[in-house]
Parts: sequence; C-alpha cells; structure tokens
Amino acid sequence: MALASCRGHTGLVGDRIRTAIRVEGVVQGVGFRPFVYSLATSLGLTGHVGNDVDGVFAEVEGSPEAVGSFLTGLEQQAPPLARIERVSTRSLGPTGGSDFRIVSSQSGGQRRALIAPDTATCADCLREMADPADRRYRYPFINCTNCGPRFTIVRDVPYDRPLTTMAGFRLCALCAAEYHDPGDRRFHAQPVCCPACGPRLLLADASGTPLAPDGADPVTAAATLLLAGQIVAVKGLGGYHLTIDARNAAAGAMLRARKHREEKPFAVMVPDIAAARALCEVSETAERLLTSGRRPIVLLPRRPEADGLVGPAVAPGNRHLGLLLPYTPVHHLLLAAVARPLVATSGNVSDEPIAFADADARERLAPIADAFLMHDRAIHIRTDDSVVRAAGSREVVLRRSRGYAPEPVSLAASLPRPVLACGAELKNTFCLARDNRAFLSHHIGDLENAETLRSFTEGIVHFRRLFDIEPQVVAHDLHPEYLSTKYAVGLDGVELVGVQHHHAHIASCLADNGEAGPVIGVAFDGTGYGPDGTIWGGEFLVADLAGYQRRGYLEPLPLPGGAAAIRQPWRMAAVYLAAAYPAGLPGGLAVQERNARNWAAVGSMATRGINAPFTSSAGRLFDAVSALLGVRDEICYEGQAAIELEQLADPAEQGCYRAGIVGDSGSAGGASGPDGAPADQRGVQLRVRGADFIRAAADDLTAGVGVPVVAGRFHNGVAAAIVAVCRRLREQAGLETVALSGGVFQNVLLSERTVSSLEDAGFRVLVHSRVPCNDGGISLGQAAVAGARDRLSPPPPG
Ligand SMILES: [Zn+2]
Ligand SMILES: [Zn+2]
Repeated sequence: MALASCRGHTGLVGDRIRTAIRVEGVVQGVGFRPFVYSLATSLGLTGHVGNDVDGVFAEVEGSPEAVGSFLTGLEQQAPPLARIERVSTRSLGPTGGSDFRIVSSQSGGQRRALIAPDTATCADCLREMADPADRRYRYPFINCTNCGPRFTIVRDVPYDRPLTTMAGFRLCALCAAEYHDPGDRRFHAQPVCCPACGPRLLLADASGTPLAPDGADPVTAAATLLLAGQIVAVKGLGGYHLTIDARNAAAGAMLRARKHREEKPFAVMVPDIAAARALCEVSETAERLLTSGRRPIVLLPRRPEADGLVGPAVAPGNRHLGLLLPYTPVHHLLLAAVARPLVATSGNVSDEPIAFADADARERLAPIADAFLMHDRAIHIRTDDSVVRAAGSREVVLRRSRGYAPEPVSLAASLPRPVLACGAELKNTFCLARDNRAFLSHHIGDLENAETLRSFTEGIVHFRRLFDIEPQVVAHDLHPEYLSTKYAVGLDGVELVGVQHHHAHIASCLADNGEAGPVIGVAFDGTGYGPDGTIWGGEFLVADLAGYQRRGYLEPLPLPGGAAAIRQPWRMAAVYLAAAYPAGLPGGLAVQERNARNWAAVGSMATRGINAPFTSSAGRLFDAVSALLGVRDEICYEGQAAIELEQLADPAEQGCYRAGIVGDSGSAGGASGPDGAPADQRGVQLRVRGADFIRAAADDLTAGVGVPVVAGRFHNGVAAAIVAVCRRLREQAGLETVALSGGVFQNVLLSERTVSSLEDAGFRVLVHSRVPCNDGGISLGQAAVAGARDRLSPPPPG
C-alpha cells in the first residue's frame, strides 16, 4: 500500500523531502549499500549511499511516505550479517535529481565503522558450489556479501579489498562485474573471487612439494590420505586444524602422541546435523548454535552409539563431545569427500598457540602432519574456534573467538576516556573500549610463552588501528606477576587502574547485561590475586562497577605445594579431609590409600604452612571432591577434575549437603573503594565451611552411597550455600540482584541449580550471555571498572 502511493507522489516536486541518514554498526562488507540501493529504488527515491569511517551515509529524496517506508525498511529488512547500532537522520532541502547512486568510499577522520566477524559459507554459495553449471562449481573459496572471511583477512580499515589479504588477487572481468553491480549478491563483497582469479588450494608435504598429481583435485587427494589413517593439516579461517578420520583409533593415538596432548578432548567436525545427532544429543538450542553463521564448537552430551563412530582417543573419559559443522567451502568439500566425522583439533603442539602463517605452520606442524591442505590467501590474524554450550535455551560462551570477534559489546554508559584492559593470565583476551563500545579481542590464550605474548601485544596494536582507539586509561589485574599486568605497567603516558580479579568477574557480568549494579556478586573460580595476600576464588562481593566489598567467602585452606596442588587434586582432598575430621580421619578412604606414599608429607606441609598459601578457591573445593570420589587424583588440563565431576553427577538427585556459614567480625579484609582505599569493613564477613561438604560426601561414600548421587548432592549443596549467603547479604545490604561469574559457573549443572534456587528465593539473577564467565571475560570487566572510576573522578583539567 505504502509503495503504490509513494510512487505516485515522487514526480511532484512540491511534495518532495530530502533526508540525510547515517547508519552505524556492522554495516560495511555485509551488503548494506546494495540493500540501501535496492530499497531506495524500489520506493522510487533518488539520492545516494556510501561508506565512510563512521559506517554508511545516505541521502534519500522523495515523498514523505516513501522516505518513511525507507526508514522503516532500513532497520527491518537489513542484510543478515548487518548489525545496526544506531540510525540518525537530518532534514535537508530537496535538490531534485533523477537517480539513486552508490558513491565511492570516503576516508579520513576518526574511524568508527565496525568489522564483521568471519561467517560460515551461506546456503546460496553452497548451492552454487554444488551446481556443475556454475562457474564456481566446487570452488573452495566461494563467498558473497553474506558469508566468508572478514576479521581474519582485514589488515586495515576502511574494510576494502586493497586493505585485506585479498589485495594480491586481481579481479577477473566476470568477478569485477559482479563486484561493481549493485544488483548482484556479490556487490562489494571484498573477498569475491573465482577459479580464474582467486586463491588456489594445494595439497603438499611439509617442504611444500605438491602431493596431488598435476590436475588432480587436492580435496580428493586429501580425503584419500585421511581415509588411509594419515594426519592432514587443513588451513581454515583463523588458523590450521589437524584432521584425522575420527573413527580411526590408530590415527587418534598417533595424533595424541605427536601433539603431546594426553587427554584434552579433540573437537569433531561432522558433515551435517544428522551426523551430529548420531554422535550426540542435540537440543533445539544446540542445533541453533551448531548451524549459526558463527559456527562454534558446541559441547554436547555424547550418545552411547558414538563409541562405534569415533575412536577412543577423541575424548577419553569424557561424556561430552565438542562438535562443529563445516564453515568454509574447503571444509564442506572435504567432509563431503570423506563422508564421515573428522577430528579437527587446533594445529599446534601441546599448549602452543594455533599455527596460522603458512611457513610457520609447515615448520611447527611438520612433526605432526603427514600432509598440508593449504592455500594462498593469507590469514592476517590468528583466531581459534569458539567454544559454547547450551544451558536450556541459553548460549554459554566458553571461548569467544572466530565468528564472534571483533563484534563489540555495547556498554550501558559511555566511557569518558578510551580504555585498554589487559585481561588475565590464562584464557587471556584484551579489550579496547571507547564511548559505549567495548571491543573484546579474540581468544589469545594462556600468557605463558613468547609466542602467545606476541599475539597479545600485536593484537593490541591491530585493534588500536582497526578501531582507531588511543587508550588513555589502562586497566590490569592486581597480580604483579601476570604478563598482562607487566605489559600494562610498562606503558608510558597512560593512567593505570588496577582491578581485583573477582571484582572484574562481577563487573564483566554486569557489563554483559548492560547494568551497573550494585549487586551481590558471586565470583567462583580457581585462582585470583587477593589484596590480603591470600589466593581468592570463592567470593561473595557487594559490588558495582566502581568498587566492591568482600562480604563473604569460602573458608580458606592451605594449598599444599602451591601449583602442585592445582595439578594434583588429591592434595586438596587431603587438606579438606583434615579440616573435616579434626579428630582423625575415618578408615578406608580410597583417596588416602591411593596416595598413601605422600599423604603425610602433604598434610604436614599444610599444617606447618610450608609452601602452602591459603586459598578460598571454589575450584579447589571441586578438585577435592573430585579426588575424594575417585574421579581425578591428577589432572592433565585446567579444570579437568571439576569437568569430569560435573559429568558424573546424577542431575536427577535432589539430596543436598549443608555447609555451615559462620560470621567473622571482618578483619580479613580486602575490600576497597574506587581509589583502592579500605572501604567500610564494619559489615560482618561470612565464611562458608567447605569442609562440611567433604565430611558429608565422605560419610555417604563410607555408607556405600553411589558416586553419581554423592556428586549430585555436592552440586546441590554448593548451590544451596550460595543461596544461603545471598539471603544473609540481602538482609544486610538490601540488594535483590545476584550476578554469577567465574570459571566454576561453566559447570552447567551448578549454574542451572544456582540460578533456579536463587530465583525461587526471590532474587533476580544475572548470568553471562555474550562473553565467557571464565577469565576470557575478565578484560571486559576491567574496562567497565576503569570507565566507572573515570566517571567518578575525572582527570584534572589540562
Ligand atoms: Zn555466500
Ligand atoms: Zn574471478
């Protein structure tokens, strides 16, 4: 209706209005200008549209009705990859004109345009790739404005082909025509290419010698090697995968041996959703996540039938599998050729960062991979696969990287000055923020080797340039030995803001939800630097973005041997058992028998306080229970004991252990205001007696109660203790909202129990949805804290 009447008016100059429009958000490289063009021309409007540093600008002229329809359609019909953050309009005088044009990009000024994340091959491109009559039939680099590489090929902004790693590929006449035709679905798709002009696939050995004979299809040749049990390194969007036939046990054992990765699960790429269902239980939410354009690895409950379809080396001892669907044309071709699940694990040795540069990949992966399926389109920035889980209808992001980065998190309040937040030590991300946008980096990894540190420092330089952010405030963890802290402290001419680790967790949860607090913050994780000299990790804070008070915590116990106690959960079981049974341990505890040789030494290390710092870590409590139940005495990767404990717990169990909560007159401080000075300490600090859980669990074990039931009761007990402390804090502080954060809440059983119990008790509960609750989300929290403190005490003028 609107359409017909508008067209009738456009000829009447007297009725015409002209409106200038500015669109901000992810609007470049996603087909936004052709969309504007076709919307405007369909409404009979004249004017123009173009890209500049802020995003998209346009002027449209026509009847008021047509302009109104245009503005409605602009937001409602935007292309799939577009994310509109703001549309602003301004009235102009009509200028006449008879057509609508796409004008060339304008550069200069401060950059505010956003860059889209890499996106999985779309259905239209897959259709063309499968069509023998199409000129891109089986072309491994097919893409369009709705799909393909983005963030990983961008060298600089504005996002235009010469500033991407596609710069060296000269468009052929056919591709150029598509690129320049506003009616084409590849109009201004920067990575557009075809077999005549684009990148080529090559199957080679580590020295670069081609393995497929001239004219043979590299994908078919790679598939043959995989089916014969070989290891093939496959270049993806953000780095190399190591792939094997997931069913081949010998290949699995060989890959583990060559990678020096003893037990950490491998991800499995399946050809389609039906193959995913054959291996795992796929909920509606999980299917949505698996098939989304972001294509993360989704952790799913494994079906018993999976045993016949994937080998024992894929995810030993794990009741979950990490599955992902193909996300590049190369993946689609390869999976179709092998027609079975492939292990697709990161291309690295042990804990090194994933290889992404070709020469480096060939060198580092030479001892592992038998062949390399690679190509000549460079990856500009290393980006790991993202990892998520489904909790009910909710997405739980465990690693936010490829497909998500560099999409910004919008902040509730604008930052007075640009901020760099350097993040934590493990699972590091950094965050650059300006105005109301926080650009959380892709997953950098554990900052414990030179290569990862280089990713961190180079990543910061790259993000500063891409988003044109010159940080004036730099936030960091309080831990003086974190490499991220040392980096921050070494910067000149910036204002430093130290942020306590668990306060950063709660601030991250607040920022994730667009809130500012105050809230009751429950931060449960493995390790964080406490200002009182102990290691924190089971914290109840009353916090807003600017500051916090430590109002409760898990009763601290010694960590005998420091880092050794983290690697060997049985040590925590020994400490907790000693605390649970001060008059002497009951006989017949299997954990004590298994570790009899060192039990007494560890006990005396703890009681005498030798190399045994105190910790309130919730992660260590889970470790202790895990060892007590015979799940894990030693771990091979971070969080393993708790992960396996969760998988073992009977989710139907309703029984619950009760831990005592004791008050303290509050001298074990660590509370601080925005300026770092001690805040009000008169409030009573509550301590949760974690040893009570251990005694209940040990008594149940001795009485012959099954391990899954004991594990279930323990999970329920932790949730109940959280609710009990939150109730006391609600009485004291008058707060009704609880924010949950910290890596312990990656445990879906615990987090679902805690959320529902808190809601039953009348609380409003905030959980993470856009960023990880683990240390990968710390940098966002640091940035939010720095911004809030900057708002409270702006810098002196001049
Ligand atoms: Zn496409
Ligand atoms: Zn071409």
